[in-house]
Amino acid sequence: MAFVETLPRGMFIDGRDVGGGGLTATPVHDPATGEVVGTALEGGAAEIDAAVASATAAFARWSRMPASARGELMHAAAAAVLSELDALAQLLTLEQGKPIREATLELQRFVHTVDHYAGMSKNLRGGYVPNLDHDAHGLILRRPLGVVGAIVPWNFPTTLLANKFGPALVTGNTLVAKPAETTPLTTLRIAQIFSTAGLPPGVFNVVTGLGAEAGEALVRHPGVAKIAFTGSTRVGRHVMAAAAETTKRITLELGGSDPMIVCEDANVDAAVKAATVGRFFNCGQACLAVKRLFVYEAVYDEFVEKLLARTGRLRIGPGSDPATLLGPVHSDRQRRVVEEQVAEALDGGAELLHGGKRPEGESFDAGFFYEPTLLLEAARDSRVATEEVFGPALPIWRVGDFDEAIDRANESVYGLGSSIFTRDLNAANSAAERLNAGYTWINSPQRPYDELPFGGVGQSGFGREHGIEALDHYTETKSVVVRRADVETER
Ligand code: NAD
Repeated sequence: MAFVETLPRGMFIDGRDVGGGGLTATPVHDPATGEVVGTALEGGAAEIDAAVASATAAFARWSRMPASARGELMHAAAAAVLSELDALAQLLTLEQGKPIREATLELQRFVHTVDHYAGMSKNLRGGYVPNLDHDAHGLILRRPLGVVGAIVPWNFPTTLLANKFGPALVTGNTLVAKPAETTPLTTLRIAQIFSTAGLPPGVFNVVTGLGAEAGEALVRHPGVAKIAFTGSTRVGRHVMAAAAETTKRITLELGGSDPMIVCEDANVDAAVKAATVGRFFNCGQACLAVKRLFVYEAVYDEFVEKLLARTGRLRIGPGSDPATLLGPVHSDRQRRVVEEQVAEALDGGAELLHGGKRPEGESFDAGFFYEPTLLLEAARDSRVATEEVFGPALPIWRVGDFDEAIDRANESVYGLGSSIFTRDLNAANSAAERLNAGYTWINSPQRPYDELPFGGVGQSGFGREHGIEALDHYTETKSVVVRRADVETER
């Protein structure tokens, strides 16, 4: 209880906690128990105005600071988070539901990403074009955009923030973040830690509130130069239209329905492990989760048997229990969506291999638990085949050959990640070229790297996070022609 009493309660604007002033306080629930564990204020247009004003004032100083000084402040901020990692992981588990081990991993990744971009402060580059004509050369500046709005969902509240914070700040932008309404607490605590570590006021602000109010106000604000949005395709479309009003730049990291292909020559054990972790990590609530599995006939029986055994060993429980491998679904609403998708698949003729229901027992009653679920041969037009399944249910299909596997994998409107397990170099290369996705993993767990650009095609969005490529999305080029002052030009 003492821990809960120290939780952040306000928003974080202009370097300090900003309190209620008559705003509604929304309860934050522990998904493992349903209990209220904190509250977050419902900010709106006024709070967004205040945060954008602070970020605008900070931009004038932050963008002109030596880049290496920005990098040093970011390294210090990352180190401060690392020193409070255990408490932050507890807080993340409390509001998000994920197992404590995964919360720790998420925060380690957060620190890694911030450090990764802080390190780039020493390598920011522009361009030089010699001999434009006799006496002139060109320079290509890369200028920061200004105030960036970062809108983040509840599944990875901190890493998805770091993906925006890192490239935005190192290139000289300032940030106003809007966390998901159900996971505001860890973000607010991080803002406090960053400030204590020396990040100047206004460089990083957090406004909590509903998407339709605080989020909408951020997207429509004329003082915001860019929106970096991660969330559902439905809301992403809306954000795209709303941002058009002020011709804002946007990046959209949206939903996915990532396919995984297991070929006849695959290392089956490695593929089974990747499929289990890839589907059930974070209780299946990852944009890069394995959401459709296509297995060659020749290894189908062996693969399915081993997958079933491994899935059966996933220990379900509250995230706070270190032995838990599968925590609760984040919300009752999200659990109902998955239940409906599974029920529709079963009605349409799919075979239930495992799960398909809430776990029984008193300890599960109040939380939003759901068993890890395996479905065989769901109809090709079923919801689990055509929609994103954002929870612990995995549909599996047999495929006859490579072309069929690629065609089925590419049937989705989404195109975020994809993976293939094979020892055949030709098949691997061909899959990398033919799979419609922003990422293809070959014989590898579906893990994103800070070093590689990450993002989608199709209805998974556009723009890239991670990699040096992310810097392009937080800077604008400006061309400069430099000519000697004492030379007459022809016109
Ligand atoms: P969501 O779209 O409902 O919400 C995401 C964020 O948008 C929240 O902060 C929400 O408050 C805000 N929002 C809602 N309405 C808004 C509006 N009108 N204007 C501005 N902001 C608004 O998504 P979710 O359910 O919280 O997250 C799950 C989704 O996110 C899944 O589809 C998942 O695949 C996707 N996701 C994508 C990536 C990626 O990198 N591609 C990563 C993680 C999650």
